[in-house]
Amino acid sequence: ATPAATMVGTAIGAQNGVLFKGGDILERAKDVDTVVFDKTGTLTEGEMELTDVVAVDGEQPVADGGTAAAESAAVSSDRLDEDDVLRLAASAERGSEHPLARAIVEGAEERGLDVVDPDGFENVPGHGVRATVDGDEVLVGNRKLLRDEGIDPSPAVETMERLENEGKTAMLVARRPAGADEGELVGVVADADTVKDGAAEAVGALRERGIDVMMITGDNERTARAVAERVGIDPENVRAEVLPEDKSDAVEAIQAEGRQAMMVGDGVNDAPALAVAHVGTAIGSGTDVAIEAADVTLMRDDPIDVVKAIRISDATLRKIK
Ligand code: ADP
Ligand code: MG
Repeated sequence: ATPAATMVGTAIGAQNGVLFKGGDILERAKDVDTVVFDKTGTLTEGEMELTDVVAVDGEQPVADGGTAAAESAAVSSDRLDEDDVLRLAASAERGSEHPLARAIVEGAEERGLDVVDPDGFENVPGHGVRATVDGDEVLVGNRKLLRDEGIDPSPAVETMERLENEGKTAMLVARRPAGADEGELVGVVADADTVKDGAAEAVGALRERGIDVMMITGDNERTARAVAERVGIDPENVRAEVLPEDKSDAVEAIQAEGRQAMMVGDGVNDAPALAVAHVGTAIGSGTDVAIEAADVTLMRDDPIDVVKAIRISDATLRKIK
């Protein structure tokens, strides 16, 4: 492209809130044949809200949304109730800055529960948290977090699957009383996020241009697919349960198939993936780390601007051919 054409394209981008970091980026964007979206905060608002709290008997599933009045008769008397489960989870999550954690804490406080600061706290990235609350060890996180601690998540599986099929992120809550060898599953909490208004339209417009659209997330497969379905991404194009440090490998694997990928993300987690992508795009209120690693910054928080970026690149460079 001539320097003049590149300048015009860059200026048109800026007018539309699409900031290309340089003329070479503007040229590269037209070659994108695959767009990989991060899920949380990119396709969704990233503003979680606590939606469900279910007490679970570690030995067997208990009354879940009206399933079994009969089952509740079998419940041991010292079983925690919903408020106990939520209070434990929220107290453990007070140590975490994760959006999932903040929603749990806020939900518990809204219900007027006595949430306390944990005495000890440890983040288990991509899996959850481990904390000490009232002297007991408390775990909040995914199936793997519990399995790694030798706690069987299966009594909660039905509840988890029901919530995940609704597109919610369900988290297990377990407790190991002080001095006890074994931990026990005590409940499930779930957070939900809202899909951004422009997400489905953006995916549709990209596909119309013949661009493959994929999604990558640390969230579980079932939740990821439910969200993908809402925005029009094929289930086979979903990469779920990808650990933060593995996101860039996942993008490299996609590019190793000969694709020219644009990765779109907002978080610190996404920065390495943005850096390895053919074009890295940071969206909206993205973190500084993501913006720094990216080639393109979308000033507005609207996924439709991904289409704009590609269209501007395409139009600018076609004109001068
Ligand atoms: P994402 O890519 O969606 O931001 P993460 O990689 O941060 O997700 O986390 C992956 C999964 O690990 C979450 O879906 C959740 O099941 C679990 N997890 C992570 N952090 C927490 C937390 N603070 N509390 C409970 N669960 C968590
Ligand atoms: Mg994100």
